[in-house]
Amino acid sequence: MSARGHRGDGRLDRAYACGATVSDRVVVVGAGHAGVQIAASLRDNDFRGSITVFGDESHRPYHRPPLSKGNLSPTNPVDSITLRGPSFYDELGIEMCLGDPVCDIDRDAGKVVSASGRTVGFDGLALALGSSVRTLKVPGADLPGVLYLKNLDDAVVLNRYLAESESVVVVGGGFIGLEAAALARSAGLKATVVECDTTLMGRSVGPLVGGVFADLHRARGVDVRLGASVVEVFERKGKAAGVVLDDGELVEADFVVVGIGVVPRIELAERIGLEIDRGIVVDGASRTSVDGIVAAGDCTVTRSLSVPGVSRSLESVHNATLQAKNAARSLSDVVGDPEVEVPWFWSHQGDLKLQMVGGRDDADRTVIRGDPASGKFSILYFVDGVVVGAECVNKPGDFVLLRKLLNDGGSIDVALSEDVSLPLKQAVIA
Ligand SMILES: Cc1cc2nc3c(=O)[nH]c(=O)nc-3n(C[C@H](O)[C@H](O)[C@H](O)COP(=O)(O)OP(=O)(O)OC[C@H]3O[C@@H](n4cnc5c(N)ncnc54)[C@H](O)[C@@H]3O)c2cc1C
Repeated sequence: MSARGHRGDGRLDRAYACGATVSDRVVVVGAGHAGVQIAASLRDNDFRGSITVFGDESHRPYHRPPLSKGNLSPTNPVDSITLRGPSFYDELGIEMCLGDPVCDIDRDAGKVVSASGRTVGFDGLALALGSSVRTLKVPGADLPGVLYLKNLDDAVVLNRYLAESESVVVVGGGFIGLEAAALARSAGLKATVVECDTTLMGRSVGPLVGGVFADLHRARGVDVRLGASVVEVFERKGKAAGVVLDDGELVEADFVVVGIGVVPRIELAERIGLEIDRGIVVDGASRTSVDGIVAAGDCTVTRSLSVPGVSRSLESVHNATLQAKNAARSLSDVVGDPEVEVPWFWSHQGDLKLQMVGGRDDADRTVIRGDPASGKFSILYFVDGVVVGAECVNKPGDFVLLRKLLNDGGSIDVALSEDVSLPLKQAVIA
């Protein structure tokens, strides 16, 4: 198990990498994207020991992105978004303990205790605890009719409000807020988005995309308020009836959706003494500061190898899946370096399909392909003539090409890419 194969310097000790034995027991805490992938990848790696997965939600594990994209079946919501089929876990010998959160971990004794009183021993422990929504801290924020969108039950409530209401105020102009606003518009509601930053999705996309999306959402009937903060949720007849902005304006609405970010769930990890830096600190192989304990997904931050003291978090399905695969490799002592992939993300805001890959932080050159106002364009970011990232809107072909190229270490000829009469693939440097 990983306790034997850890050199403490971020690399696997090949001398110890001898594969798992049937007596090994892994407990996975958290049954979301990362937790389920850890269990599945352990079996892919030929891990033959016991795997027990605890999840605090009672639903069969499901895909989270559809919750804000309107892909939920009203009659059978879990089945429409299930992560794996019902027989998957039995077939792979994965024991699922759903609706039973782990409330205590005894690291020295190697056991977890769940809310129902179950005690399960482990040789390897995986934490895949996800994140909680950041809550709005203003007067009235706890009124009925102030909704958050994190899990399936939240989405069912949101859909009910969408069906019964005429207007909504969305607090937060990030991905989830904008997806919720687009859902509201498609259901015929009046939608207002209040964002304190001067651009939309400012934490994740470049200012150009942020600015264009403000225009595109406005063109689709969303009232986008930038540089405005909510200072109060006001009440009528015992429930939320709108918000007060920092300039005193009242924005009335039948309900309020809050999408102002997430906070990694770290309580259990903190209690057992793992290194924390906003999230659970992991290395590129998803190992925590304690041998034999791995972590993956939204609950983690990854320590940078190049910049000491810096760690980054990425709340995405791709990151959760990749970290989970590496966590499983570490637990089952797979020999070799961890998997590395260029990060990517998508967000579907009504008919606006945004896909991003790579980064843009140090970009010294930007190429725009297509007319942003048309809602169909790509932005390519270059550093010293080498493409490092892209944001594609309703351009899935560009995204697929660029994602593959970035993962393969290829590049694009800057000058050729500027000629939008040429398909992007003709600008690829062979
Ligand atoms: C509405 C919405 C839309 C999104 N859209 C996109 C998108 O379009 N693209 C994208 O890439 N990403 C999207 N994301 C983000 C993506 O879903 C997350 O990054 C991903 O789910 C992270 O996976 P995870 O396994 O780390 O966490 P989660 O999927 O949150 O799973 C963690 C699970 O662990 C459980 N848990 C926590 N503590 C315990 C405990 N003590 N015992 C047992 N169980 C516990 C939690 O309840 C949860 O079920 C979206 C997220 C939301 C909420």
